Amino acid sequence: MTRIVYINGDLVPEHEAKVSIFDRGFLFADAVYEVSAVLNGKLLENAGHIARLVRSCRELKLTLPVTPAQLEAIQQELIAVNQLKEGAVYLQLSRGNTGDREFEFPAAGVTPTLVLFTQARPVIDHPKALTGIKVVTLEDIRWRRRDIKVVGLLAPCLAKEYAHAQGADDAFLVEHGLITEGSACNAWIVTAQGTLVTRPLSNDILHGITRQSLLELAKRHDIPFEERAFSVEEAYDAREAFISSATTFIWPVVQIDGRAVGDGTPGPITRALRGIYVQMALRATA
Ligand code: PLP
Repeated sequence: MTRIVYINGDLVPEHEAKVSIFDRGFLFADAVYEVSAVLNGKLLENAGHIARLVRSCRELKLTLPVTPAQLEAIQQELIAVNQLKEGAVYLQLSRGNTGDREFEFPAAGVTPTLVLFTQARPVIDHPKALTGIKVVTLEDIRWRRRDIKVVGLLAPCLAKEYAHAQGADDAFLVEHGLITEGSACNAWIVTAQGTLVTRPLSNDILHGITRQSLLELAKRHDIPFEERAFSVEEAYDAREAFISSATTFIWPVVQIDGRAVGDGTPGPITRALRGIYVQMALRATA
């Protein structure tokens, strides 16, 4: 079945969707994006993703050409026409085609480019959720506004590439000896006392929608947590570690820089928290 994608108001087969070489998303990575998970053919935590998109747009003076309600209707239509049961909907908004390459923002009247597409992939029964992943640490060379979800993702691509070359799955990014987050996920550890630790919100990290839900679920289930920065050494010594994101939910981290985390298998608190999140997600999309 040919995938149907959305581009500027139209639903078309993917090979028919074309964006200009003068699009500022292509020339300058002047664009924002969001990824919402799909379970049972329904969007998960989508209000949070759309709210973050609206914030990203505001920070960059980008105009969203549709209302949040219209955007959700487009997402749902794409899910339906592609008969997507489990996976993700990707959406990207760029400042559009100005017909040339000029750094300054165009005067009013240039239409932003909005594209969306679906991706079918396992979310609940992903093998990495069971086995866990290996990560390596790497200097965080990204820009200073990581709270804005921009498409300029070369640094995370380099980080993933570096991790794969080392036989690992992903990288924990490090700034001043402290872990910021993963290449496309938030980073967590569990201390010897059983406390969850994840970095507090600031411009240093993306404000993960999954991260926020996990904190709320931890509170509800009396799992202690702290929002604070943690060092690479603390991660090495942690009892457990894991990552969170919309499409992974939680994946255990079983090795950091070749050292086993805890006993080198997914830890009980990580597994319990993933279970709690999965239950919430299944209920929300039933
Ligand atoms: N941090 C980064 C750098 C990311 O790219 C992502 C997701 O893509 C996340 C964290 C997790 O955010 P969310 O839980 O909203 O998917």
